Amino acid sequence: MGIADFERYPLTFGPSPVHPLQRLSAHLGGATVWAKREDVNSGLAFGGNKTRKLEYIVPDAIAQGADTLVSIGGYQSNHTRQVAAVAAKIGMKAVLVQENWVDWPDPLSDRVGNIQLSRIMGADVRLDNSGFDIGIRDSWKNAIADVEASGGKPYAIPAGASEHHLGGLGFANWAYEVEVQERELGVFFDTIVVCTVTGSTHAGMIAGFAGQDRPRRVIGIDASATLEKTRDQVARIARHTAQLIGLERELRDDEISVLEGWAGDLYGIPVDSTLEAIRLGGTLEGMITDTVYEGKSLAGLIELVSSRDIPADSNVLYAHLGGQLSLNAYSGLFR
Ligand SMILES: *Cc1c(COP(=O)(O)O)cnc(C)c1O
Repeated sequence: MGIADFERYPLTFGPSPVHPLQRLSAHLGGATVWAKREDVNSGLAFGGNKTRKLEYIVPDAIAQGADTLVSIGGYQSNHTRQVAAVAAKIGMKAVLVQENWVDWPDPLSDRVGNIQLSRIMGADVRLDNSGFDIGIRDSWKNAIADVEASGGKPYAIPAGASEHHLGGLGFANWAYEVEVQERELGVFFDTIVVCTVTGSTHAGMIAGFAGQDRPRRVIGIDASATLEKTRDQVARIARHTAQLIGLERELRDDEISVLEGWAGDLYGIPVDSTLEAIRLGGTLEGMITDTVYEGKSLAGLIELVSSRDIPADSNVLYAHLGGQLSLNAYSGLFR
């Protein structure tokens, strides 16, 4: 069994682009930094990393005869926006539980950005006052029960599509896509830097790269600020995904590396390093990152490259996972 044995429903444009970040690399004065861009991977409502995961989940939803995708996230969830887009694309309904994950005083956070697009795409958006948790929630179980009670056939997709048995496959496949792009470009990325919260993006990458010949560092930068939960979830999903795609060995603990230091104290709240990274990516590269996820992983990359923790002769690949729309809910910053 390998990744190619799993059905993939096309929702992306194909392989996501890979390009060098020349001015950022020169500025940092160490490793050569490239980016692989999941923020432009699809025409479905701006895409993002969840769209890749959903390519491997949609065939299961269709096979089960579902008519409604049910999922959950914060008010500004990128994930639920991508579920809404995919539901529209495949002709299903979407019920989205949107919880109050971030205590951020922007009066428009439940109206602009991601949630606005989900509403435009016809999703049934349900606001809920619960706080941040990457685990399984009652509000979500209730939404599933509601769909059943009204005669629908729900298909449950957990937060970030992570605690789903196929959730790691999208980014296991990403690892193979990188290998092909490396051959085309004549470069080897010895280090990958990726933001991690619900875990299956990072976990899928770990599983996918583990089956390749040349070892590399796959560094997850925590943006959950609940480090132990995220680290456990990454390890669990990586091991499960490795088994699914037929890796014939156990993953070692040292292959699962989730680093802390850039999340700040709370999920969704930027700290100084986040804002500096966002400004640096914007001013040097015209590359936009957000306050919740990518600004934090970019801050991690900047520090690891500057400190030579990632050596100067490295080629490092920054996985840009999307997420810019939530910037609309942070309008007080950058004035
Ligand atoms: C969901 C998300 C992440 C985190 O990915 P996980 O698979 O949940 O760890 C990072 N960046 C963006 C933009 C996201 O939407």
